[in-house]
This record gives sequence, C-alpha cells and structure tokens, in this order.
Amino acid sequence: MSSVSPIQIPSRLPLLLTHESVLLPGSTMRTSVDTARNLQLVRSRLLKGTSLQSTILGVIPNTPDPASDTQDLPPLHRIGTAALAVQVVGSNWPKPHYTLLITGLCRFQIVQVLKEKPYPVAEVEQLDRLEEFPNICKTREELGELSEQFYRYAVQLVEMLDMSVPAVAKLRRLLDNLPREALPDILTSIIRTSNKEKLQILDAVSLEDRFKMTIPLLVRQIEGLKLLQKTRKPKQDDDKRVIAIRPIRRIPHIPGTLEDEEEEEDNDDIVMLEKKIRTSSMPEQAHKVCVKEIKRLKKMPQSMPEYALTRNYLELMVELPWNKSTTDRLDIRAARILLDNDHYAMEKLKRRVLEYLAVRQLKNNLKGPILCFVGPPGVGKTSVGRSVAKTLGREFHRIALGGVCDQSDIRGHRRTYVGSMPGRIINGLKTVGVNNPVFLLDEVDKLGKSLQGDPAAALLEVLDPEQNHNFTDHYLNVAFDLSQVLFIATANTTATIPPALLDRMEIIQVPGYTQEEKIEIAHRHLIPKQLEQHGLTPQQIQIPQHTTLAIITRYTREAGVRSLDRKFGAICRAVAVKVAEGQHKEAKLDRSDVADGEGCKEHVLEDAKPESISDTADLALPPEMPILIDSHALKDILGPPLYELEVSERLSQPGVAIGLAWTPLGGKIMFVEASRMDGEGQLTLTGQLGDVMKESAHLAISWLRSNAKKYHLTNAFGSFDLLDNTDIHLHFPAGAVTKDGPSAGVTIVTCLASLFSGRLVRSDVAMTGEITLRGLVLPVAQKPCFVVMKTIILEHTELPVWVELKTKS
Ligand code: ADP
Repeated sequence: MSSVSPIQIPSRLPLLLTHESVLLPGSTMRTSVDTARNLQLVRSRLLKGTSLQSTILGVIPNTPDPASDTQDLPPLHRIGTAALAVQVVGSNWPKPHYTLLITGLCRFQIVQVLKEKPYPVAEVEQLDRLEEFPNICKTREELGELSEQFYRYAVQLVEMLDMSVPAVAKLRRLLDNLPREALPDILTSIIRTSNKEKLQILDAVSLEDRFKMTIPLLVRQIEGLKLLQKTRKPKQDDDKRVIAIRPIRRIPHIPGTLEDEEEEEDNDDIVMLEKKIRTSSMPEQAHKVCVKEIKRLKKMPQSMPEYALTRNYLELMVELPWNKSTTDRLDIRAARILLDNDHYAMEKLKRRVLEYLAVRQLKNNLKGPILCFVGPPGVGKTSVGRSVAKTLGREFHRIALGGVCDQSDIRGHRRTYVGSMPGRIINGLKTVGVNNPVFLLDEVDKLGKSLQGDPAAALLEVLDPEQNHNFTDHYLNVAFDLSQVLFIATANTTATIPPALLDRMEIIQVPGYTQEEKIEIAHRHLIPKQLEQHGLTPQQIQIPQHTTLAIITRYTREAGVRSLDRKFGAICRAVAVKVAEGQHKEAKLDRSDVADGEGCKEHVLEDAKPESISDTADLALPPEMPILIDSHALKDILGPPLYELEVSERLSQPGVAIGLAWTPLGGKIMFVEASRMDGEGQLTLTGQLGDVMKESAHLAISWLRSNAKKYHLTNAFGSFDLLDNTDIHLHFPAGAVTKDGPSAGVTIVTCLASLFSGRLVRSDVAMTGEITLRGLVLPVAQKPCFVVMKTIILEHTELPVWVELKTKS
C-alpha cells in the first residue's frame, strides 16, 4: 500500500461501546456484541436482511465500567476510533450474540451526544487526517526526527523476528510502505501493551505525543525479546528466531492487522488458491480476471476490507463448475416407471413430463419452453421436479423465489461493497457443483417488484435459451454458461406471473386431489415415508383407511396432501414415544427389583392421561402387537377435530345456498345467506364483495322480481313485488376475505328463491355460474362447465324448474 487514501468520516456516528479492548486506527479486532445497546446497533445498522451493510461506526472504549448495561448511558470517553464493520458473525437464537470484525480508520472526538436510545449516536469531529501529514506539523523537523527514531526501533524489533515467517516479512514490508504517522497506532496494537496504555495512545491526538509515548513501549518490547533470547540461547543456537517470534504470537487479544498465525495460514491459502486458478478449467476470460485479482490480493494488507472481498471472490471462481457436468441417462421406459413409483395419480402431469423428456432425448438440446407446474400447495409439484432430476441422473436444486423483490437476488450484487454476494443462480451452481443441474424455480408467481429493480426481468435473461449461454452475474462480472441447466418452475396461480415470463413457459396445471386419491397417496407414499423417518415399522403402528379418511375430512382442509403428511408425522412421533416407553418398561419389568416409588409414579402418570393413549401404550408391551390408530387414539394425538361438517346444519333454514369458489390454494365451498326484514326495498350486501359480485346480486334480484309470479315467490306480506316494504340483506360469510367475480350469480338466485319461497335448498348441491338478466346460466370463465344444471333442485319438491339453466357450450 503505497499511499493512504483520504478518509472522510460522517459527522454523525452510531457509537459502539467496547469493553474488552481498545481499537486503534489501522488495526483490526474482533469484539463480541452482547450488551443490549450494541445489539440494537448491530441489528439496525449492520444487519439489514441477511447481508452486512457497510457502515462506519464510532468505537468508544468503555473501560471504566466494564459490565455496565444499565438503562443509562455511562459517561463516555471523549475520543474514539471510527471503524468499518467488515464482518458480523453469530445468530439471534437462542440468545442473540454476535461477533463483529472491525477495522479502525481514524480518531474522532465526540462533540455532542445526539441521542442515547436505543443506541447512542453522536455528532463527531474527525481528528486524524492522514493525508495532510506532514504539512500540519509546525515542528516538522522535530517530528521528522521523532518518526525516524521510532522507525528505527520498529525495524529493530521486526528484525529480531524470523523473517522466513510470511507475516513477519509482510510486517517488514509494511514498515517501509505505510506512512510513518500510521505506525504508532499499528505497532501499539501489535506489541504487548495493556488496555490502559492503548487508551493513552488513543488519547494522544497530537502525532508528536503519540510518537513519544510509543517509543518506550517499543523499547520495552525489544528488551523483553532480548531477555527471552538470552535465557533460551544455551539450548539451541538457531532457535533464536523461533523464540523471538513467540512473544508476538502470544499477544492475548491480537487485533487482526498482522495476526501472524492467521496470516501465515492465509498465505498458504493464497498459494493454494493460485494453484487452483492455474489448474482450473475456467474459460479464458474468467481466468484472466482471476490472475489479475490474485496479483492484487498479494499486494494488499489483510486489514483492508477489500482483502476479504477479493479472496471470497476468487474462492468462488475456482469453486464454480465451469466445465463439470453429469452425464444424462435417459430411458423413457425407466422414467415412466420411476414417475409412477414416486407419484400416485396426476396422470396428465406425468404424461406431459414424459413427452417433454422424450423430445429432449430425440432433439438432444434444451431449447424450448420451460415447464411450469401450476397448482395449489402440496400437490407434488416440487416432488415431480425432483423425480425429473432423478430420472435424468442430474443434480437437483430448489431456488425459492417467493418474496424476492430485488433483482440482485437473481443477478448478484456488484462487488463494490462489503457484503456483496453472487445471485441465487450462481450460488445454486456452486452448491450443486455441476453445470447441468435441474433448477426448480419455486413460486415464480410470488416474485415481487421494488426500487431495486425487477427480478422477473433478470429471470427472463436466465430462462432465455438465446441469452443464457453467457449469463453475467454482477458479482462474477464474467459470463457463465447456463445453457445446460434444466429449469422447471412452479406456481400457485398464473394470474400474478409477469406476462413476459409467462410467455417463456409452458403451463401444466396440477389440480388438487379427491378424497379417494388422497387415501391412496397416504397409504402408498406418505405413511411409509413417515414410518421410515421415525424409525417405526408396520409391526409397531397401523393406520387403517378409515382413520386416514377421518384425518382428511376432519383435521385437514386442503387441495394437496401437505397437512395430511404433517398429521401423519405427528401421529408417528406420538407412537414413537409410546414404543420407546414400552421398550423401556419391558426392560424394567424384567428386573424384579423395580422400586415401588417408581412404579407408583408411572401409574399416576398413566392415570392422568386420556384412556386410549395409555391403551395404546399397553398395546406396545408385547412387541408383536402394532399400535392401532383408531378414532380415540386419533383424538388423543391430534386433539378434537378441527373441521366439522357444517353443511347440513347451516342449510336447515330457507335463505342459504352453497356456491363454489376458486382460490390459488384450491377450491372451496362458499355459503350465501339471505334474510329479509321490513323496510323500503333496500339491498344490503356484506362480506367484502367486489363490484362484479355486487352487480350479480342486483341482477339476481331483478330477475327474481320479474319472475316472481311465475314461480310463486312472495314477500312477507304476500305481495309478488318482492321489495315492497321489504329490505334484503345478503351476506357472504368469511367476511374478512375479499370475494369477487360473476360466478356466484346462480347461487345468489337460488338463495333468494329459497328465502322468498320458504323452501330449503338441498344440502348436497353446490353451484357456480354467471347469470344473465334473461335467466341463463353461463359457464365459469372459458373453462368447460363441469356441471350442466338443468334444474336447481329444492328439497321436498317435485323438481320445479326454477330457473331455466342453460350452458353456453
Ligand atoms: P408442492 O411443491 O406442490 O407444494 P410437494 O411436492 O412439496 O408439493 O409435495 C408435498 C408432499 O406430498 C411431498 O412429500 C410429496 O412427496 C407428497 N405428494 C404430493 N403428491 C403426491 C403424489 N401424487 N404421490 C405421492 N406423493 C405425493
């Protein structure tokens, strides 16, 4: 480092109070953050999201009252060191604790504390301006003399050490290259000094004082070394060098600038790194960049924040699978068997995937649309993606895109600031270690957008076969060939996928499962998998089909099978405890000398439990009897049922009908309730309805009013004018959920017809369809109408034709 760049620190600095040691400019140290104040500072200034923000902190030694973490700010030392936070390690669980790596930049003085809570912030004045030396010195000559003297001592000290140790050689080089005025601070933090002495050096704002105060410390260290050498000399003559380095090595809290042991290792690492670069198969362009960077790295002192950055960069470059790939093996027949073995049902999806793979095989390249599986959660989208990788013999990696709203998440951060990292694509490649994995882009419909750019646009580049053979991550800054990667996307809905992205993909709908399918999936796949994960065997636990059905209907309400899977997990855990307990008990019963007290305790415990659990425990005693999960055991393990069949109960009075609703998470039934009261013909609608739905309600009323006579509908006063002196209230329960769309039309008509006729709606019919003013029912959206309803059947009636229901198709 031949010149020191001018440092200009901000005029307001957040203050970090250290109580372990004193940081001096030019040195680096690790400090643990455990006081509430410092924790707050780290959280709000340094840890935004998951990456480290480069921030300058004011580090104030808080020596007088080390343990103080009271509410009030202790009296602050007026002079501190502005420092750059280079690294934060640690975690916030179970107890927040971080360790900070900070590098001192220059001294500052507190002018005024601006705020104390949650962490102190102060207005500060910068004290050192390194670049101005020696112009600021009035007594230039004298200082020149002093610094010369200091330099001589420093050289003498270093020369007593073993020059073949890279760290020492580097220290020697630094002595010549660093500006003289930086030396007192740096050397003070290397040699053996107490915190008090360091504090004095920190307080020595004038350079002259600083030189004067450090010289005796240097001399002391030199004398110490001499003494050591003398005492050990008789043993071995050339041991001098080894001995001499030790005192420095043993400095207790070594601030990292020249932490020699570490540096020694680092130097070895750099040699290794260089070798790896030489032997790596990266393309020429990347190779050139690496060679340039490693040259720079060698010249850099380790204390520079850029050192770590460059090193991380180079490590990533050599680790990336530039040329490493797996060989595809594809046998369509085997693929079919594998897909069938792993997944029950989902015929359409499996067929389409096989077609895709077959085309790939014949065409032998990957150009073509990206497959995108769209369906509710837990229907096996990810799992099919994994099977595709397995059939091809490729590595699999999942990239979760939900909530990603910064394009650098995809494309990486530029390597200009501390904490920059490559994007998820490059990271994924590093993780799998080959350049032709299957990447599952999970939840592309949940990509966000923000000021930091549009991640969807970045993804476009990744997915475009014309462009992705030289995809450039901002962090790498050299092109990486992504053309061998097989991308598969998943989403819950296509509605929120950006159109340009949608255009690149071939959508394959994965519908939810019926009850029967779920039972099959459970018994063929989920239960065996859970048993294996919990170390149980079918000889220990039995889950009959009716129990599975009970779990599906009464404990889960979903289109996929994810919660179902979790419920089986819960059952297995409970049974595992019982089995283990049973084994334990057996072992104990074998011993005839069981202590009475213990036996008692066990009884009390069992008595306190619901009977069937203890039943099942007892069943575990003879090992060949499996624990049967019956309805009692189910209730004990999973608690009371979460869902009851509410349909029949809610349809026990006129004015209620069931509609069908679509959500990205799967289909649902939806109740529509109506009531009438005396009034002036007003219609009230509640339940967070959208405009289209409100219009449907008006349409329904108009049609009913115009057809009231025909169908004998009357209001409470027997009038065919339904709204005469009558108000109507229509409510769509689950009032907090926004609902919209025209498809509730037919349900509203039925509900109102039931209200005005006083007849019940059948409880086993749900309906969906848009209505027109003339009484036609249109199929929902452009999709084919599932149910062609000729009539809406009301209970206890002989099929009166209420509405002339027709479908367009
Ligand atoms: P998604 O990605 O659609 O949210 P997952 O692929 O994570 O769902 O599936 C959740 C669980 O359900 C997985 O353990 C998966 O193996 C299982 N699963 C889903 N569908 C099937 C199926 N048809 N056959 C076998 N297991 C299935």
